[in-house]
Amino acid sequence: QRKHKVTVVGSGNWGCAIAKIVAENAASYPDLFEEKVEMWVFEENVEIGKDSPHYNPSNTGPQKLTDVINTYHENVKYLQGVQLPPNLHANPSLEESVKDSTILIFNLPHQFILRTCESIKGKILPYARGISCIKGVDVDENGAHLFSETIGRVLGIYCGALSGANIANEVAREKWSETTIAYAPPSPGLQSPLDAGVSFAFPDKLGRALPSEYPPVDHTVLKTLFHRPYFHVRVVNDVAGVSISGALKNIVAIAAGWVEGMGWGDNAKAAVMRVGLLEMSRFGDKFFGATIDQRTFTEESAGVADLITSCSGGRNFRCAKYSIERNQSIEEVEKTELNGQSLQGTLTAVEVNNFLKKQGMEEDFPLFTAVYRIMTGSMKVADIPAYIER
Ligand code: NAD
Ligand code: 13P
Ligand code: CA
Repeated sequence: QRKHKVTVVGSGNWGCAIAKIVAENAASYPDLFEEKVEMWVFEENVEIGKDSPHYNPSNTGPQKLTDVINTYHENVKYLQGVQLPPNLHANPSLEESVKDSTILIFNLPHQFILRTCESIKGKILPYARGISCIKGVDVDENGAHLFSETIGRVLGIYCGALSGANIANEVAREKWSETTIAYAPPSPGLQSPLDAGVSFAFPDKLGRALPSEYPPVDHTVLKTLFHRPYFHVRVVNDVAGVSISGALKNIVAIAAGWVEGMGWGDNAKAAVMRVGLLEMSRFGDKFFGATIDQRTFTEESAGVADLITSCSGGRNFRCAKYSIERNQSIEEVEKTELNGQSLQGTLTAVEVNNFLKKQGMEEDFPLFTAVYRIMTGSMKVADIPAYIER
């Protein structure tokens, strides 16, 4: 029997935390997985500061991030202070890192995923399987698509999704949390109804059957790859619900951050979260109604639990809060506060608004619409209570 080769495409704050988890499990289950896990790193130069244990006074200049990770087993820029497993290999070549891998884990800020996938099109195993850890939705004026579906369509493979209440810095420090994996490859020849825009056939056109020498990529294998004593996995079939929750909660977290920044208190924040959850579930129902399972929003980590953690201490929440306290735009706070990490909520708010406008549905999603309008200056945070009260 052959073993699965695993690659993580992306190495930011969450990318490294997930890579740590799968590398630990690859080492723990040598019958199922090749021990060495590849991680694609968007190469850049970093300098190791005086306060780092890896500081070397005779080598203080810029160094390649991949060399730093492979030497010290730490991503000093995006996941400082966390020891990465020695079997995790940082690779600056995207093409080399995905070559011959049967399981591809996509973990990048959503604005980079399309170009990244296009550059490896035709260069991966045609029977590879994907898991998208991206919290974003691929929406434009013409339609709404899940990133798992966009990745699958570009690469010609089946791709599921992982999302949950998972602040990366906590998971990486092995503080207990739960997550949700959604994975439901359609049977051969069936149309996939997951995509609101177009549908496609799988695996006739997309993705080949996995050769029988490999253990099947099913719920059990995925749980083995991602579950850790500190990271509890539930595997479900609702790819749309898991992906939509992860994307849209980022818009709600911005509103929650503004409310906190205004000093309106926890009752007000809870009100914003209530309306946010309602709009998340409404969006799922209206645009992915064919397959979505509404229980995902209320019963899974990817739903209400992620909304709560993101509105308590997530980056979108924090940057929105500081934007009020410092009277700066969220983008300015993002630049000064996040050291190269990327907010997803600001971009998602714009993308979702473009889509809703085109559908003539802005009024059906007053909180999402208010977040967009406040960001673009045509509404004020003080207008939120009256505007969402319907
Ligand atoms: P991040 O915010 O740390 O972003 C920085 C990463 O983007 C770096 O690896 C950087 O090299 C990369 N990057 C910059 N420019 C690039 C380019 N042109 N092409 C490719 N890559 C480029 O990223 P993250 O926290 O790992 O987030 C990835 C996804 O995971 C996002 O969708 C996010 O919503 C989601 N997520 C994040 C967290 C978290 O707590 N950080 C938790 C759960 C899910
Ligand atoms: P932020 O990107 O706002 O930090 O959210 C992290 C997250 O998704 C927690 O589950
Ligand atoms: Ca509080």
